[in-house]
Amino acid sequence: MTTENRTPLLSIRDLKVAFDSGKTSNEVLHGIDLDIHRGETVAIVGESGSGKSTTASAIVNLLPGTGHVTGGSIVLEGTDLTSLTKAQMERIRGRDIGFVPQDPMSNLNPVWSIGFQVKEAIRANGIATGRKEVERRAIEVLQQAGLADAERRLHQFPHQFSGGMRQRALISIGLAADPKLLIADEPTSALDVTVQRVILDHMASLTAEKGTSVLLITHDLGLAAERADTIVVMNQGEIVESGPSREILENPQHPYTQRLVAAAP
Ligand code: ADP
Ligand code: MG
Repeated sequence: MTTENRTPLLSIRDLKVAFDSGKTSNEVLHGIDLDIHRGETVAIVGESGSGKSTTASAIVNLLPGTGHVTGGSIVLEGTDLTSLTKAQMERIRGRDIGFVPQDPMSNLNPVWSIGFQVKEAIRANGIATGRKEVERRAIEVLQQAGLADAERRLHQFPHQFSGGMRQRALISIGLAADPKLLIADEPTSALDVTVQRVILDHMASLTAEKGTSVLLITHDLGLAAERADTIVVMNQGEIVESGPSREILENPQHPYTQRLVAAAP
């Protein structure tokens, strides 16, 4: 697809993030530039610790611990997200950006049923209102994420779910609001290959039908090449290379990317 001449949905410029430890500030993102266009799937690849999750959580203002943005901008349709209050950001997260965090255990509330948490996400967005309608939508998004027996599962709690089922519940929550941008941080790493395929196919059909943009974070270059239009390669808090997936795979320019490509199965 040609994306060159359109305004991106999301535009990140010179993003810097640091974690504080005592009096020292440790910069882990050293000036990231990244554009995501409407309907585009962008994959961030890179080894563990390269800053993929930090980039994702900075976009939705959910940096863990002492993490904070120290410079740069994250512009979604003309609004710099780094300047928003927590409440404003929560609304954006409910409505415009769906976020599937990396760790499915720590991101579901153990005392609330799965159904309640999915329904909260739907209500926050306001796309469904009546009790029946919200319930119907909750079952639908759980089924779309490949969860069998969704109607019964609604009433269960996170501890009654396997790791893979929790991941699917989180994906459902991310999709519940019908967002413009879905950010999925290693969304299928805990899943077996068949379920991986179901979920990634679902994401692909969303981008095709609704023009949803996806930021797919993965350490798996093969998966990125298969699923993304654009690949962004991160190493040690910097983007070392980015471009159309096929070009990155067939003609990597940066030595780090060349090593990744050589190591990919
Ligand atoms: P990736 O997702 O690519 O594996 P991360 O974004 O999780 O990488 O980590 C990037 C860097 O930020 C690493 O050096 C990591 O140690 C650091 N980091 C991540 N989370 C925290 C945190 N909560 N506190 C301190 N440092 C962190
Ligand atoms: Mg990560």
